[in-house]
Formats: sequence, structure tokens, C-alpha cells
Amino acid sequence: MMVSMKSSGLKMWLSVIFVCLSCLFARAQQKNYAIIMDRINQDLQVGINDGVLTKRITKNLPALKPDGSWTDINYADAQYDPLNRIKDMASAYIRPSNKLYQNVELYGAIVKSLQHWLDKNPKNKNWWYNDIFYPQAIGQTLILMRNAKTQLPVELEKALINRMIRKLKTGDGANTSDEALHYLYRACLTQNRATLDSAAKYLFEPIAIADGKEGIQVDGSYYQHGKQQAIASYGRVFAGNSVNAAFYLRETEYALPKAQLTILVNYLKNTFLRTVRGSFYDFNVRGRGISRKDSLSSGMGGMVGKIKLFDPENAAYWDASALRTARKKPVDYGITASHSQYWKSGYTLHLRKAYTFSVQTASTRTLRTERGNNENILGKFLPDGATNIQRSGSEYANLMPVWEWDKIPGTTGRDYPDDNGATVLKEWGIPGTTKFVGGVSDGIYGVSCYDLNYDSVQAKKAWFFFDREVVCLGTGIKSSTKENITTTINQTWLRGDVASSNGAQANGKGEIWAIHDSIGYIFPQGGNLEISSKAQTGNWYRINHFQSKNELKHNVFKIWLNHGKNPQNASYQYLVVPGVDAAALKKYNRSMIQILKNTDELQAVKHTGLDMLQAVFYKAGTLAANGLSLQVDQPCTVYIKDLNGKNPMLYIADPTQENASIKALLKLPGLSKSKSIDCNLPTGAFAGATANFKIKE
Ligand code: CA
Repeated sequence: MMVSMKSSGLKMWLSVIFVCLSCLFARAQQKNYAIIMDRINQDLQVGINDGVLTKRITKNLPALKPDGSWTDINYADAQYDPLNRIKDMASAYIRPSNKLYQNVELYGAIVKSLQHWLDKNPKNKNWWYNDIFYPQAIGQTLILMRNAKTQLPVELEKALINRMIRKLKTGDGANTSDEALHYLYRACLTQNRATLDSAAKYLFEPIAIADGKEGIQVDGSYYQHGKQQAIASYGRVFAGNSVNAAFYLRETEYALPKAQLTILVNYLKNTFLRTVRGSFYDFNVRGRGISRKDSLSSGMGGMVGKIKLFDPENAAYWDASALRTARKKPVDYGITASHSQYWKSGYTLHLRKAYTFSVQTASTRTLRTERGNNENILGKFLPDGATNIQRSGSEYANLMPVWEWDKIPGTTGRDYPDDNGATVLKEWGIPGTTKFVGGVSDGIYGVSCYDLNYDSVQAKKAWFFFDREVVCLGTGIKSSTKENITTTINQTWLRGDVASSNGAQANGKGEIWAIHDSIGYIFPQGGNLEISSKAQTGNWYRINHFQSKNELKHNVFKIWLNHGKNPQNASYQYLVVPGVDAAALKKYNRSMIQILKNTDELQAVKHTGLDMLQAVFYKAGTLAANGLSLQVDQPCTVYIKDLNGKNPMLYIADPTQENASIKALLKLPGLSKSKSIDCNLPTGAFAGATANFKIKE
């Protein structure tokens, strides 16, 4: 009897403890929902200008019919509006600082427009609106309205929450995190633990090294739609969602785990933010989004400001980045020199305080820049060695509608009579055609190469990256098409004067220089240089059918070399020297750059000031020049640092990503005898990456 009493007493205590723990747990969980929802709510209102918001609402309201529909919206093809308009109204309604705060009529408009959306249940042909935008926008509106003095009718809110439910497409990179975001909204609105669990899981799922699949690659670049560089297109969505998720869930039991935090921080710091100069993206990282208005404006300040809250370790770095990308500090604020070879994506990014210079290429291992949904219609040559050269950042911003699309900066190709020649015929990306594409890097300097064979044009193109200058070499230029073959040096906004020595020499012989917008161009061997500085016309629609047909006229600086018709082994050499005026360009010491070779077997440049040599061996062979000799038994890219010193370093990579080992035989001025090195190269996921070797006596 006693025993059983004891036992039932114990049971009772245990169940009391259990109930208490559950209560505590439930309360902690409830607190989680409240904290997260409050962060989302605050975040939704960041940057709202009440005056602008009210203006927009009063402009839109008269078109709202008694049934809750807008006269000017086609509900069979609803895109951002009307849900954005409803969200606007919800924001104004809950903001004490807004003139329409707690406005009764506005509340009526919110309710009836939401009711109409619910009843009408619009569907778009593009799944993205149905599965991502609609549920996100509804969730945001409902979260905002939770702060309203008069809440939405319970039944309406409940029905809308149910309308947000979608099946998650997992393993779909940026899209997965985009979908998980409305799961998070719904979890907070319903205080449902299972929903919050899956939201957190799938929000963070894409923060991983995907190795060949869509997502972050081992080299730090980002793939989406197959093996296609998408650093600030889908990678922007990924970055934005991941930052938001980590920001919302910080310091809760759902906080981003440390290992994934490291991956995310690396991506943001070492790749993504480096593609933003001032507040503008490099045009090479926006994918087909290059054809959208304002797509080079990064709008980054807000996002960067959040990062330090979940990554306080790098707070100083995030603060500097936030100030720079919000243009509160100069474009070089907090910038340090770097050189990144993204051998997985065919993308090279060279950063200096004075400039950003990037190159995009394609190979048999990757997909060429896609056209999709009738976006990026004329971007056929975007991955053919396009060079993005930025100083202020805005050199190319919104210039794309008037671009001549067969003269993308950096590319060599046919000069068609009109832009139809640049039309991408197949959607969603096609593979590149050659495999000798890549480069070598030590993180600060490097060389990149592109074996071009596309659109019946062949060329061997290489870029040698130093501090003050980038040397661009092309050779083996062949084509038997009827058009002139040209190499475009740049095509940017015309800003200020253009000065040039072009035309001063007879028939393109001898060195030529040109300068525009603080960027100097030097052509050591001249060439048939053409410069145009006049207005070009066009519209967004011709490159993207979602965009406006309004005719635009912009002044453009365009500079290119004309190799003529039917070139059989044409070549070019030019130096880009950013950050100079005409006087500085005159004083610039060009003799430090020695172009040792520019043949279709070997391209090599020595920089005497930096004491380094960079070379692209398209075939096994030997480079011999003033006291140095370098022999390799396989094609490769090579870079030797401290060339004449006592401790030279050899950096080597195989652009074909096929060889596990290359033998190098070196005779350097500072070494008494020649030196043979068996260079074992990275393999597997890292094939194509740079290996380095100390060259010692
Ligand atoms: Ca043309």
C-alpha cells in the first residue's frame, strides 16, 4: 500500500514536472515566434519613406473597385501588383508616422482587396509568381497587419494563411530558400512548430558546398540552371534569403549553425560583395538579369547592415561594406587588393582600390550565359571574354538597351550590320565549345585565358593582371565569314572628353594611346583602332520582352580594333590602365611591361616593376627570354613571382582540368642552375585550381 502510494506520488510529481517543462518550453517557443515575427515586421518597414508611400497609395486607390479589384490589373497575368499595393496599404495603416495610420477607409480597402484576391485566386503562367512571390507577399501583408489596432477578420486571415501553403521544392538552391521564407512567415503566423522546423531547415539547406550541382562551388562561385555562373543573379537571391534567415533566427534555438555560418560568410565576403563596386554590380555576374532595368544597382546597404548582427566577429568588415555599398563612403573604402580565379565558372575577378576588372568565359564544362523567358535576348557573346572595367561603378549601369551587342567589352567576334547577329537562339544556356579555359592565381595577381571558337570565329585570348594595369593579348584570330572581325576594348557611358593619338600614325603602325573617363588604353603595336563617341539608340524591350519599348538615346564611348575580313592569324595587344588622367598616362612607365610572346602556342608577359612573369602555354614548349627559360611538358597557365630574386615561387594550373601532373624545367636569373619540378596538380573537385611551388636552389 505504502509502496503504491509512493509510486503514485512520484508519478504525480513527474507529471507535474513534465507539464511545467512543457509549459516552459511552449512559452519559450511562443517567445521565439514573437521575436522572429517582430524582426520580420521591423525588416519589412526598413527604408520606408512615409511621404512616398502615401503618395503611391493615393495614386493607386482611385482605381480600386468596390469588389476589391483594381481596374488596371490583368488578374490573368498578375505579377507584383496588386499584392504589392495591398502590402503598401498595410504598411501605411500600421505606421504611426504615416498620414493614413489607422485610417478607416484604408482598412476597408485592405480587407476587400485581400478578399478579392482570395476569391479570385489568380494564377500566373510563370510558376515563380505562384509558388514564391504570391505566398511571400501575402505572408508579409499578414505579418504587418498583426500590428494593426484593428486586426483582419479572423476567417479572412485564416483562409489567406491556408492559401500560402505550397509543397517545397527542395534541393533547388535559391528557389528553395525563397520558398522556405514564406514557410517562415506562415510558421510565425500560425505558431506551428513543425512549420518553423521545416522553414529553418530549408532556409539553411542551400548554405552548403554544392560541388557541381546548383549552389556554392568549391571555388566560391555560384551555379544555377546547370553549370552556369550565377554569382549575383540567383546567387543574389540566395545571399539575400540566407542573410535574412540568419538575421531573423539569430540567437534563437534556430540560429544558423557555425559551420554553415562560415560558408555563408565566405561567400558574401570573398565572392559576392567583391562583385559590387560602389553600389553597382559587375555586369558579368547578373546572368540574364543584365537585360533588366536597374539590374546593376545593387541596393545592398540594408542587407549588408544585417550581417554583423549574426556575425559580430567581422563587424568592422561589414560596417565598411555597408557604408561603401550605400555610397556613404568612397568606392575604394575598405577595399583590399585581390585576384580570384573561379575556375568552376570561367570567371576571373581582379580588384584594386582604383578599379575592378573581371572576365567571363565559357567552356565545355560550363553553360554559356542563358537567355530565358525572353530575357537577355541579345546576350549571345556575353561569355566570350567579356571584360567589366569599373572605376566609379556606374560605367555600364542602364546602358544595355543602347549597347551594340556584338561589341560587348573584351570580346572578339563578327561585326554584324545589326544586333540580330547577337540573338541567343536557344533558351536556358548551351555548353561552351572549348576546354582550355581558366587561369592561375595567387590571390593577388594572376593570368586568365580563353580559347575562343564560337560563331565561326577563333582566337586565343589572355589577360595578365597586375596592379596599375591589365594586359590583354589576343592571337590566332581566324574567321572566314563575310563580316569584319573586331575586338572590342570597351563600350561604356560617354563621360567627359575622349583623347587619343589615333590617326596620328600612318596606317595604324606604332603605339597608340587613348583615354576616357579616367581609364587609359595603350596599344603597343597599334592596330586599326576605331573610336566612337556619339549617341546610340535602343530600348529595353529588344533585349527583354518584359521591359519597356520606350526609345532611349544615350551617349556611348566605344573603342575597338578592327581585324578586317577573313583574318587568318590576326592578333592584338592592349593595356588597360585605370585611374589616370591624360598627364598621368603620359608619365605612365609602359616599359615595365614586356610582352614576350603573343603566338597561338604561347602568350607571355613580364612585369619588371613587380618582378613577375605570367604565361599561357597552349602547347607544351619553352619560353626563353633574357636570361630566363621555362619549359613545360603540358599546356598550362604559369605565374612566377620574385622572378629575379632568391626565393621565386611558381604558380601553375591546368585550364583543361585534365592533367594531374606537369613537369616544369626552370632556369631563372637568380638561380645558379636550372631546376626541375614535378608539379602535382589538384584533382577531383579541385581540378583546375592553382598549385604553388617554392623554387629553391
Ligand atoms: Ca555590329
